[in-house]
Amino acid sequence: MRLRNKPWAKDTLLAHPEMVIQNPEEWKGRWKERFGNDHPIHIEIGSGKGQFVSEMAKKNPEINYIGIEIQTSVIVVALEKALAAEVPNLQLLHIDGGTVTDYFADGEVDRIYLNFSDPWPKKRHAKRRLTHADFLKAYEQVLPLEGEIHFKTDNRGLFEYSLASFSQFGMILKQVWLDLHQVEFEGNVMTEYEEKFSAKGHPIYRVEAIFPK
Ligand code: SAM
Repeated sequence: MRLRNKPWAKDTLLAHPEMVIQNPEEWKGRWKERFGNDHPIHIEIGSGKGQFVSEMAKKNPEINYIGIEIQTSVIVVALEKALAAEVPNLQLLHIDGGTVTDYFADGEVDRIYLNFSDPWPKKRHAKRRLTHADFLKAYEQVLPLEGEIHFKTDNRGLFEYSLASFSQFGMILKQVWLDLHQVEFEGNVMTEYEEKFSAKGHPIYRVEAIFPK
């Protein structure tokens, strides 16, 4: 996702420590304390402008959501949405999704969402794909046994790569959708990219994959 550079973005993030967590490593192993309850924690890695995670938080008050985004000029837009949502069960983290083990204890995250992750189509960039085995290793550590990744994309190449990556890692493909919007699927929350690409007629691929016991 490319956005104009926003020189003011850093200050805006710093002005909202209640939403964009400062010193997130201090909350490792204590996220339930931060949310003030025992509810499950679902994170979205690469949450972009935050539409999905804000809407999920509004719809599911019994789940705590953390949106993770690496780009300053993008997470600042997610911040505006998160503040407008006025929900207590949403936090944002300005970190690289590959470093989740620095910020979450083993098994502390109950589910990971990956939505329309950057495809990095060149082979030499494969390690940057959020479904590469290096990322899966980190996700496995922060999820419990039988923890799930829910992944959506319109990019067929990335989807095929990800199915192979999950399966080579020993994950179980619980369910696969090849055209999500053409079937009954209760409660789908659309992301910004999902709205854009489905409007252009692209099929939306989805998979739920589980780390086995
Ligand atoms: N999920 C949103 C959606 O579906 O509309 C945004 C999709 S956009 C194509 C991918 C986002 O992932 C970008 O905002 C990018 O900055 C972010 N991203 C890419 N690599 C990341 C990483 N390693 N950690 C956190 N965010 C990352």
